[in-house]
Amino acid sequence: MELSLFLFIVCSVPVSHQYLLPDHVAPSHYQLRLMYDVDPNTNYSFYGVADIQISTKKATSKIILHAQNYMISEDKVSVVGQKDVPKVTGVKLNDTYNFLEITLDKDLEENKNYTLIIPFYGNLMRELDGVYISAYKDKKNGKTEYLIATQFQPISARKGFPCFDEPMFKSTFSLVLGHSKEYTAVSNMPLATSSLDNALEDYWPWDVVGKKFRKELSSFVWDEFDKSVPMSSYLVAFVVSKYSYKSAPNTSNTKFRIWARSDAIEQTSYASEVGPAVLSHFERWFNVSFPLPKQDMVAIPDFVAEGMENWGLVTYEDAALLYHDRESSLSDKERIASLIAHELAHQWFGNLVTMKSWSDLWLNEGFATFVASLGVNAIEPSWHADINNAVENTLTVFNLDVLESSHPVSVPLEDPTAITEIFDDISYSKGATLIRMMEMFLGEEAFREALHNYLIKYSYSNAEQDDLWSELNAVVMNKGALNNNMTVKQVMDTWTKQTGFPLVTVNRNYSDKSVNISQKRYVWRQEILSSQSWWIPLSIKCESGTEDPKLVWLSNEEGVLDDKHLEHGCDQNEWMLFNYNMMAPFRVNYDENNWKLLINTLTSDKYSVIPVEGRVQMLSDAFELAWNNQLDYGMTLQLASYLQREQEYLPLYTGLSGLSKISNVLKRSAEYGLFQEYVRMLITRIYQSGGLAVKNIVNGDDLNSVKIQVLSSSWACSMNVPGCEDNALEMFQQWMKTQNPDENNPIPVDLRSIVTCVGIHRGSEFHWSWSLERRNRSDVAATREHLLDSLACSRDVWILAKFLEWTLTENDELHRQESSRVISEVISSEVGYYVARDFIYNRIKDIHTAFYDQSEGITDIMKTLLGQFTTQKELDEFLSWQKRNDELLSESKMAVAQGIETARTNIQWVETMKPIFMDRLKEFIRTSSSTSF
Ligand SMILES: [Zn+2]
Repeated sequence: MELSLFLFIVCSVPVSHQYLLPDHVAPSHYQLRLMYDVDPNTNYSFYGVADIQISTKKATSKIILHAQNYMISEDKVSVVGQKDVPKVTGVKLNDTYNFLEITLDKDLEENKNYTLIIPFYGNLMRELDGVYISAYKDKKNGKTEYLIATQFQPISARKGFPCFDEPMFKSTFSLVLGHSKEYTAVSNMPLATSSLDNALEDYWPWDVVGKKFRKELSSFVWDEFDKSVPMSSYLVAFVVSKYSYKSAPNTSNTKFRIWARSDAIEQTSYASEVGPAVLSHFERWFNVSFPLPKQDMVAIPDFVAEGMENWGLVTYEDAALLYHDRESSLSDKERIASLIAHELAHQWFGNLVTMKSWSDLWLNEGFATFVASLGVNAIEPSWHADINNAVENTLTVFNLDVLESSHPVSVPLEDPTAITEIFDDISYSKGATLIRMMEMFLGEEAFREALHNYLIKYSYSNAEQDDLWSELNAVVMNKGALNNNMTVKQVMDTWTKQTGFPLVTVNRNYSDKSVNISQKRYVWRQEILSSQSWWIPLSIKCESGTEDPKLVWLSNEEGVLDDKHLEHGCDQNEWMLFNYNMMAPFRVNYDENNWKLLINTLTSDKYSVIPVEGRVQMLSDAFELAWNNQLDYGMTLQLASYLQREQEYLPLYTGLSGLSKISNVLKRSAEYGLFQEYVRMLITRIYQSGGLAVKNIVNGDDLNSVKIQVLSSSWACSMNVPGCEDNALEMFQQWMKTQNPDENNPIPVDLRSIVTCVGIHRGSEFHWSWSLERRNRSDVAATREHLLDSLACSRDVWILAKFLEWTLTENDELHRQESSRVISEVISSEVGYYVARDFIYNRIKDIHTAFYDQSEGITDIMKTLLGQFTTQKELDEFLSWQKRNDELLSESKMAVAQGIETARTNIQWVETMKPIFMDRLKEFIRTSSSTSF
């Protein structure tokens, strides 16, 4: 994250891997003694001693490990453990790759054990990674409280203590944490003992420390934690705070506690139900016990991600863990359950078995994402998390992986700065999509058996994707889950080692019940020729098909140069639907007649004979293919017209996402009114069935129904459906008139985001400030989050400018990680776009500093900004600005490249496709207004 380009060192590793540590020595155990002063008045000083047991694989006179952002007491660094040990002659810290090089006067002998002792000291900072200071206001006494938190993934453990900071170097860890008695410390393992004696006295006597801390020895305590299981350095974690905790009911052998600031402790109930239930479910599903005696989960106010899976001590941002009975929406609840399930899935995939290098991050994130939906399914079956997540993940893959600037799931990394960038939708969503695909074509039983074997075989160790393929293959050979001529590796390598996904083109021969099938990579610039091909599982359904049809494979050599000819059983007057269960991430185009047959059924009242996933696949394909001029827009508009009958959230969401891409490029053009008219035709009926139309949420316990009401209400207001904004305004004003509005918000919780956005959009500065005050007074993270988004809905340029300024300064209004959210929200609004664009262009340096140099925030705002462009002039202006600010964008290279490519597709659409789209739209509206539509 904090690293940059080049370093020349003499060692035998290949040039492209020069940021990796040499493998002459490996750690086996760390004894870490750390002592912190959580006090702004002494600048959060700390002292530490790392005793690292190492073993030598090869003789060497140089030990290289990682260290960053603190001082090393060079004269106190030593090596002990054998007779006649080498003396330390030099200690050098190299900033480029954070290498701490320790030179010795002679070689360490091969195959011997030594202990390396490194004392260090420094000051903690208000950051979002390493060991850092977070702060919050205690709502009860109005006092600002501080806490220490850690975020080590991917390469910030080195900021906490000197270590071999690569996932391959697994070790056990013993931790002693010294802190003021007012605070409580938690770490990966249970507390063993507490002592009042300075545990660091041999290197940092209290005489020295006490002066720096300006505190008495008697006000401190040293907590010692049990020795950990072997794990990678990025999983070490601790929190030192004044928090309280709630114990979850004992449902398994694992002691479960949820920690939060004391004024939010009541909001931990849902997490304390979900956590143990999901953990037990995973133990059963993997048939592998959770190896630690306890699991803590903590909400951290300043937090870079949504959650972090540290073994035995999972950390979350507030809104991802804390659920309030009256203030959190059903979607908030869904998010919390998914996040907890995701982080707990990592306790197996990631913590127990870890990827060998960050190149195979997808093995961690893809699995956690996939398995999370199984965990949620187990505790909230009515939500259908498996299918919801599968569809959302696949749609996400379609969006990002269509770009030439996307990357393979298993990605070679030549530079550590690129690690943070691959924590993206490809590793998470494409990873999960491919794992689901495997589960479907292998069958659940074979899949689970292989996973169990894999988890057992590589426990407390590392694996790469080939290790997984061979475990799966072994089971497959036994059970015959694949044809003889193929292996799991053959199939999966085509998906994980190549960027992108295929377009399958289907041309039917109606006279003889056969089809010609071809495949090629689907990219938005069709003139790009690609030689890529895939092993594609084809699930095919005929209109009359009642049984689950057999899976057909298209190998990576079929349908490439010549079409694959396939016999089937569909009659000539019935449709054929490919990928009806969205088994694999690919797009499908058909001959015109088959599209018409499909559309006929879809626009009839028998539309539900096509399964939900099939409807999603068709809608998504139709919008995308038309966007690229590979399908006539008239067909797409007609197909999408069935949405007025749709009762399921997923197809509705898919159709509206297709329209949203068009809305985004039309919203500042003269033709927008006609587009809105079309969308109103689609959604008015569904809008009227609940939500804003009736000023209430009906069927409030049914997630599908609630999501439909929220989605259709939101679209209705932005498409000017009569009455929508009026209803929202009325509800907002009613809230403003309520006595004690912080306690008594009359707006149904699921509709609050939309209502406050409209209230602020249509209101004045008074309404904006009034809403801000509600945010400031709330101690519910979900409420604070939705109000923050709503504040970006203002139409007043000066208010938005003021709002943006807050993202740059330390203030009570925003937590640091909220800054990029604010900027992104303002960019996406019609008025705010112009203000935010200038703000980014003029202030990028300040933004970079305010984000604590974290690339994630910059990445988000770059993608959002570039996604708004519709003219070459806007892009040219950006490109020349980018040149001048290259260095500040160096850690967001991939995101910027992807954003630029997205901008180009938008610009090209406006130039070439917009006239065609408008023609078809006019024609559709003209013909349908005279019929039933
Ligand atoms: Zn994860």
